[in-house]
Amino acid sequence: MTNGHLHGDKLPGETYYNYHMAYINGRWQTIEGGESFKVIQPATEREIGCITLANSPVVNLAVEAAKNAFTSFSQTSIDERVELLENIIRIYKDKFSLMARHISDEMGAPMWLAEGAQTGSGLAHLEQTLIALKESKAQQEIGDSLLFHEPVGVCALITPWNWPVNQIACKVAPALAAGCTMVLKPSEIAPLSAYLFTQILDEAGVPAGVFNMINGDGPNVGSQLSRHPDIDMVSFTGSTRAGVAVAKAAADTVKRVSQELGGKSANILLDDVDLEMAVSEGVKACMHNTGQSCNAPTRMLIPENLYQQAIAVAQETVAKMKVGHADDPEAFVGPVISQQQYNKIQGMIQDAIEEGAELVCGGLGKPQGLEQGFFVKPTIFAEVTNGMCIAQQEVFGPVLVLIAYQNEEQAIEIANDSLYGLSGYVSSTDPQRALKVAKKIRSGMIHINNAWTDPAAPFGGYKQSGNGREWGKFGLEEFQEVKAVMGAKNF
Ligand code: NAD
Repeated sequence: MTNGHLHGDKLPGETYYNYHMAYINGRWQTIEGGESFKVIQPATEREIGCITLANSPVVNLAVEAAKNAFTSFSQTSIDERVELLENIIRIYKDKFSLMARHISDEMGAPMWLAEGAQTGSGLAHLEQTLIALKESKAQQEIGDSLLFHEPVGVCALITPWNWPVNQIACKVAPALAAGCTMVLKPSEIAPLSAYLFTQILDEAGVPAGVFNMINGDGPNVGSQLSRHPDIDMVSFTGSTRAGVAVAKAAADTVKRVSQELGGKSANILLDDVDLEMAVSEGVKACMHNTGQSCNAPTRMLIPENLYQQAIAVAQETVAKMKVGHADDPEAFVGPVISQQQYNKIQGMIQDAIEEGAELVCGGLGKPQGLEQGFFVKPTIFAEVTNGMCIAQQEVFGPVLVLIAYQNEEQAIEIANDSLYGLSGYVSSTDPQRALKVAKKIRSGMIHINNAWTDPAAPFGGYKQSGNGREWGKFGLEEFQEVKAVMGAKNF
């Protein structure tokens, strides 16, 4: 890049990311009077970069650019937008390794994960959106009318730090595919991958003003976007607390708000299960991404008669689980994102002990030899009842609770006894039985026998896990309005 801000080609440890600009109206722009914000590498606690937070005039400029670009971009053809997505995919693939490094540096993912699911999911969403766009119809007939699927308008996209590019791609790609224009505000804690993603879009030839990126915090920039009169839709991923604030701020101007929020997903092991496999896979799925996934299976529900055996397998699984730095290929668990998150997790572990949960492994403090960095011990609690805080509140760290149940009905009741309803997991040697149980769980997604997430399937939750669906065809529809033209069928 010519802007002097990309230093990602240096060796790990030498990189310093000077990512100070905002991308508005097709140009990188300096933010006059903006506050500097340090990027801290979670594994080392070192400052590895710096961004500038946007201020109110910059937010207005970005929204204005998106508003002005909407008139022409909303009228582009499906073919034109297919070509644009294909360009983005090509350049994203070229920068795949660099993207993985950015993600690992900003949020601590081990490199195998950064190069795998973290960067891979971004690509998967671009590709799935392309498929959905190619399969979409510009118009349809219903009754005596014609239906047109039109872009919803100018969108604010607000994203978190835990799966940074996954969440950016699953919003930006469908917004572009639908013909919307947008302002992206990535997480200020993990802003590096968003910057590189913006460079990719710039290189791919996204027309000026269609895509704008500004860094900023939630209370100022995020909330200004959420209430801005020229924004038609806010697509938000993050905490339930911030999701509620966004919806309230957006209400006065009746924006569409899509929310992907928290979760406390139950993992039901039925009594015919292959226990060894189901427990070890369940533990790994919970600890994956250091437990920082909204859809993580954080409550394992186990038949009473298998409970003690399950505790032993869970303990063994964690004993073999290495915590470490990104470049250690054997490290399964990395650091958590920040000191604040570390403190929050420690507090929740302490509270669980005081609540009477029995510590199976892990617990307070840092793993031996990892005193520097925001490392948490993978922690498992047994003798947990579903009413305890540790079974109800999202930890967003490597912490699993094991809950015993008496019969299938009770397992379903416990699974549904949650404010959240994002995911659910059911394991059984009888897939039909697992499916029957899956249908009774009030959540947007269910994984049978620890099946991996499917980028072609819709992603989203029931209850306080959010509103709306992302990914693929359903993600594209989120960014569309439907226009009915009456009496036009035979035109
Ligand atoms: P957060 O909700 O504070 O931040 C997510 C995004 O929202 C960021 O871009 C942030 O700047 C923005 N934001 C914050 N407050 C806002 C406001 N009032 N108006 C508009 N935008 C706002 O989440 P976090 O601090 O990144 O993480 C805190 C907790 O959120 C975690 O502990 C976890 O429980 C949850 N979380 C959930 C998900 C998920 O995918 N469901 C992802 C990340 C975090």
